[in-house]
Amino acid sequence: MLYRCRDRWDLPTPVAGVAEMKPLSVLAVAMALLTIPAVARAAGPINVVAAENFYGDVARRIGGADVKVTSILNNPDQDPHLFEVSPSVARAISRARIVIYNGIGYDPWMARLLRATHGAGRRTIVVADLVGGKVGDNPHIWYDPETMVAAAKALAADLGDADPAHRADYQARLVKFVRSLRPVEDRIAAMRHRLAGTPVTATEPIFGYMFKALGMRVRNQAFQLAVMNNTEPSASAIAAFERDLKTGRVKLMVYNSQVSDPTADRMEKIARASHVPVVGATETQPPGKSYQVWMLDELKAIDLALSE
Ligand SMILES: [Zn+2]
Repeated sequence: MLYRCRDRWDLPTPVAGVAEMKPLSVLAVAMALLTIPAVARAAGPINVVAAENFYGDVARRIGGADVKVTSILNNPDQDPHLFEVSPSVARAISRARIVIYNGIGYDPWMARLLRATHGAGRRTIVVADLVGGKVGDNPHIWYDPETMVAAAKALAADLGDADPAHRADYQARLVKFVRSLRPVEDRIAAMRHRLAGTPVTATEPIFGYMFKALGMRVRNQAFQLAVMNNTEPSASAIAAFERDLKTGRVKLMVYNSQVSDPTADRMEKIARASHVPVVGATETQPPGKSYQVWMLDELKAIDLALSE
């Protein structure tokens, strides 16, 4: 079974799974929508659709009772890179006043669906564009808390435009949200102080932006890139990864606990046998946790693993 990361880092063309979704299937989904009348601006909460549940969480925090948020990638047992669009997703998007998605190749189905479903007055927030992300960059940008600040600001502005009567409420919740990120930023600063320069590795670049924020030295980038691109890492990249684990050159290994890849799984076994601490990180926000608690829990796990 292949449950590999389907990000298209460094790949100019779609590779597999979701990325291979034919335009026709989007068209078919869009056709199914033709029977749905365009939704007029009704009173009541504003429909927000978030491609990923961590952006949905931010939308809920900024929108409060004034919004109804639908998060599409929300299943902790599912590889987001294998996501397939269903008619219910297309229907949710057709009703949305505000759509927010990651961009830079992480959720290419969203841009196609938006092109296929014309929503009058619909606003779209591409989070990668807010932080200067480019196709070819590591798409896991939500692992940088600054990204969430940018997403929250854009949501507050668009919600205020869509619903001027509550503009002050959105701005007040934005201030509260930004303040609520402080414990995550404090933890990063404290860990950076102690742990900057620590050599670490990962089977995929999921945690890359957080490693950068922590000032850690991330090894085996070629290996991570290959696994993420759904290709077999080169023999030399595998050998270098194994050597790092067996000789204790790296102090920690992060793996993507939401997807499974045979080569990555093998590295995890070698890490455990070599007494290199292993910490899992997830692609989407775990159920019952806020973004902050999710990040703090992963940071705590890293801190604990490195202090053993
Ligand atoms: Zn990924």
